[in-house]
Amino acid sequence: MRCRCCYVTKTCPTFFSKDDMTALKALYGGTFDPVHYGHLKPVEILANLIGLSKVIIMPNNVPPHRPQPEATPAQRTQMLELAIADKPLFELDERELRRDTRSYTSETLRDWRQEQGPQQPLAFIIGQDSLINFPSWHDYESILDNAHLLVCRRPGYPMAMKEEAHQQWLERHLTNSADDLHHSPAGKIYIAETPWFNISATLIRERLQQGESCAEMLPQAVLSYISQHGLYR
Ligand code: ATP
Repeated sequence: MRCRCCYVTKTCPTFFSKDDMTALKALYGGTFDPVHYGHLKPVEILANLIGLSKVIIMPNNVPPHRPQPEATPAQRTQMLELAIADKPLFELDERELRRDTRSYTSETLRDWRQEQGPQQPLAFIIGQDSLINFPSWHDYESILDNAHLLVCRRPGYPMAMKEEAHQQWLERHLTNSADDLHHSPAGKIYIAETPWFNISATLIRERLQQGESCAEMLPQAVLSYISQHGLYR
């Protein structure tokens, strides 16, 4: 049997046992208006690459003074439930939707860290577009105090940060070793070699509004739900 981090056989000093592989817990936040294959497929590949056995999807709440998702929180949740029904990798956590304040990732991860204890390896999954904008997130530096960042590639976005100071911050935290993620509680950034999926919720909403097909972009069960509920017209 080969180690999942370095592919060396059992002689690897940090060989992943099955228990090790279940150790790292990952959270995946977003609006999911609606959920699509650009959300799901890169993360399934990432999970295989680094040996993640569970990904917790956490749809976020958008407060009243911000542009609202077109679907309600309940509809976004129901679409997610349909999308992951046959995918045991994923589970859903609705805690951010139960709050009526803005969902700040830094605060959510602080709470999660308190629940999980100081040693538990935790990670937050984002796409490449989110990495580029990450320094504009509320209290972004504290996020790495509580979790690793796992980044999936996304077409149309640069991999370098816009400002030199942010690029240095990125390089200070970068790792290309899955082993680092499993054996430390937080603080690393891992950019995964996931394939590009040129799909966004914005594109899907626009195409649906124009009566164009999105059959290749999201699960059929979610498309049927959208049609039954007259969403994104
Ligand atoms: P919108 O078009 O409405 O802004 P979106 O498609 O970007 O939505 P979000 O729900 O905002 O989806 O994204 C949640 C997370 O999924 C973010 O971290 C985002 O970077 C990531 N993500 C979304 N689409 C892709 C994709 N095609 N490839 C990789 N990551 C993606």
